[in-house]
Formats: sequence, structure tokens, C-alpha cells
Amino acid sequence: MGRRGDQEAVRPTSPAGGRRIRRRPASPLKLVASESAVKGLPDYHVHTFRCGHAGGASRDFVEKAIERGLAEIAFTDHIPLYFLPESDRDPALAMREDQFDGYLEEVSRLQREFCGRIAVRLGLEADYAEGHEAALARWLARADWDLVLGSVHWVAGDWIDAPGSAARFEREGTGRLYSEYYRLLAQAARTGFFDVLTHFDLPKKHGHRPASPLEDAEAAAIEAARGAACAVEISSAGLRKPVGEAYPEPRLLAGLVGAGVPVVFSSDAHAPAEVGWGYERTVPLARQAGVREFVTIEHRRKTPHPLPMP
Ligand SMILES: [Zn+2]
Ligand SMILES: [Zn+2]
Repeated sequence: MGRRGDQEAVRPTSPAGGRRIRRRPASPLKLVASESAVKGLPDYHVHTFRCGHAGGASRDFVEKAIERGLAEIAFTDHIPLYFLPESDRDPALAMREDQFDGYLEEVSRLQREFCGRIAVRLGLEADYAEGHEAALARWLARADWDLVLGSVHWVAGDWIDAPGSAARFEREGTGRLYSEYYRLLAQAARTGFFDVLTHFDLPKKHGHRPASPLEDAEAAAIEAARGAACAVEISSAGLRKPVGEAYPEPRLLAGLVGAGVPVVFSSDAHAPAEVGWGYERTVPLARQAGVREFVTIEHRRKTPHPLPMP
């Protein structure tokens, strides 16, 4: 789900029925975003210390966004793990229930403090878990969100992206996990709970991919996003993960854009230095995939803006 995953760079071994991703030669990750790539764009996926695997003062995330020339920043911390038994709610993966009100208060305080300098949006990264829709609806009713990110991290009874998840691909089959993931992602979009689908091709995080793309399952998820008027994030986070590729991969992004699914830009920052990180790579990728505009979201309403051309 984040930093825990980053710390353990799992090398894929021999994915069952899958192919290994050829890794690019290691290059030092730059934590410097080119200002021109970032300027005027939002960062719509940012965490706080409450999730247990992000660090830094929340106001430093906002200061970094201003320094980089971003127009908006949305805090989107991990929803409490409502779909797991209480004893299994790992405080290193998501905020605890008793931190929720403090989260709302802090974002509200930052909105007032930075008013006129940068738009600070109130968001939430909410896990979709099949069969727990009523509990999710109750959580979402507790605040007047600007935007809710829909994530599928829990697939076939376990995490799909935790460090230990890499072994699942060998055990359970890469194709099977991908196909179940996309089924859940499509279902998530269809619930109408979410404004944005996050890291669209998340199962690739540790470097596992099916032997050939599951085009029907992908197409169903794209169609579900389109039908629900749900946006997709172009996330630089994948560039920091073992896979070394933004979410979604260019082929999928082109498919989403071709279907008319709106896009937002995000970093999935878990530290202030990651705010707006990698946009100098994701913005050109977006242009190549045919993106001509991005959306901003306020009180769950989307407004399109032209993507600045170089
Ligand atoms: Zn996280
Ligand atoms: Zn996140």
C-alpha cells in the first residue's frame, strides 16, 4: 500500500504462467520535479502520518506543493480498514478509526491556513472490498468530501500489493489474480462511490504480468469507469516501485483516454518530497496517450482544464 512496499524491493522470480518484466538499468531516482511539468496541475493522491507508513508534517506537503507550482493538493489518506476484523486492522497500513476526526480537522485547518495560496482538497483513499459496501457507505457519509479515490488492494482474500504479496503470483497464478483484480475494479467503479480509480494496473507493482494482457477484463474495467463517469489517476508512484512504470501503463492509458475516461494527476506521496514527484515523466506520457485535458474535482464535481502543451 505504500512505504512498506517500497522498502522491500521484491525481485520477481518466476511468475507462474507469467512473464517477468525486463527492468531498466538502475538509475538514481530524482526527487526533483521539473517545475514546468508540474505548474498549474493538481496532486490528487497524498497521505499523512496517520496511515502509519507515511511521514512528515501535513503542512509540509502543502508547502512542497506550493514550492513546485501545483495549483491544488488533495489529502487522500487511507480509510480505516473497515472490511477486516478489528484484530486484523494493521495500524501500519491505514489510519485507525479514532484518528478519522483528527484527519478531517487537520485538512480543514490547512484549507483555512492556505486559503488564497493553494486549493487544499479533502479526499480519502477508500478500499473497495466486495460484500462490505454498506460499511463503506457509512464511512463515506461521515464527511463532505471533495473527492474519493477508489482502490482495490484486497484481492481474493489478501493484499495484492504488500511486500509479501509477490509470492502470491507464483502460488495462485498471475492471470488469475489479474483477472480477479480487474473484476473487482470494475465492480468498484460501478458502485458509484468513487470519483477516481487509483493505480489502475496495481498488480504489476512487484513486476508480475500475465503472459498476455487480459484484454476482456481490462476492457470491462474501462467501460465501468466510463459508465460511472469515474476518472482515472495518472500516478507517478509506479515509477518508485520495483516495476518502474507509471500507473496505468501507456497501452491502458490510451484505452482509457480513447473511451473518454477523464484523468487526474497524482504522486501517491507518502512524504513531502514526493508531492508532484515524477510529473516531468507522467505529463509527457499523458500527452503521448492522447490526453488533452485533465479534471479538477471539488465537492465531487469535475471541471475539465486543457493540459498545458510544451
Ligand atoms: Zn499508502
Ligand atoms: Zn495511496
